[in-house]
Amino acid sequence: MQRHWRDDLERMIALDLRARGIRDDRLLEAFRAVPRHEFVPYEHRLNAYADAPLPIGNGQTISQPYIVALMTAALAVSKGARVLEIGTGSGYQTAILGELGARVWTIERDASLQCDAKALLHGLGYRNINYRCADGTMGWPEAAPFDHILATGSLPEAPAPLLAQLRDGGSFVGSVGRRTIQEMVRIVYHPQQMTVETLCACRFVPLVGFNGWTH
Ligand code: SAH
Repeated sequence: MQRHWRDDLERMIALDLRARGIRDDRLLEAFRAVPRHEFVPYEHRLNAYADAPLPIGNGQTISQPYIVALMTAALAVSKGARVLEIGTGSGYQTAILGELGARVWTIERDASLQCDAKALLHGLGYRNINYRCADGTMGWPEAAPFDHILATGSLPEAPAPLLAQLRDGGSFVGSVGRRTIQEMVRIVYHPQQMTVETLCACRFVPLVGFNGWTH
């Protein structure tokens, strides 16, 4: 990686992640390994390491690094974990999961975003990733059960059919609430009972689909 990208990346890790409470070294190493500037459109490259969401085309955004870190930390992904990601977008979050050694099933509704993300992730050498262009709010039943489900867009609520694709004790992290503002929640799934924890307020682009928003 070129020196100026490396400097920007180290600043992001120190000031936007570590100083704000992301202390897991394994996770910080994952951020260190992923060239975020490759995941943003060329015209936004100079801001790639700023702690902000950026447009990636088709009205969608790449999530801000701190939020990606917070969500990933909340899942506590161990090596070999089976993770369903809903909303591939740029593929940046997918790459972080890949760096952590997860086996990823990632679904994107927009064919052109999916195509770009797949080519980029493949080119960067990520292999433990399964791609699907579909409505991710339905999950990926044939690959269930998952250890974790990560929704990278907002939902009106955590859909029961999706949670049922988790193993007993598996966790869901996503942004749930109203269209304009949501709460990031972590749900630990047990068939008879679930625990729900609110992590922070947030604002994500919507997941449009059968168990999501209508438009
Ligand atoms: N993790 C991504 C975030 C992308 S934003 C990143 O950091 O780049 C959310 C993504 O969800 C968008 O790309 C959008 O096209 C996609 N999306 C919206 N509804 C969806 C659905 N029902 N199933 C799968 N993907 C969906």
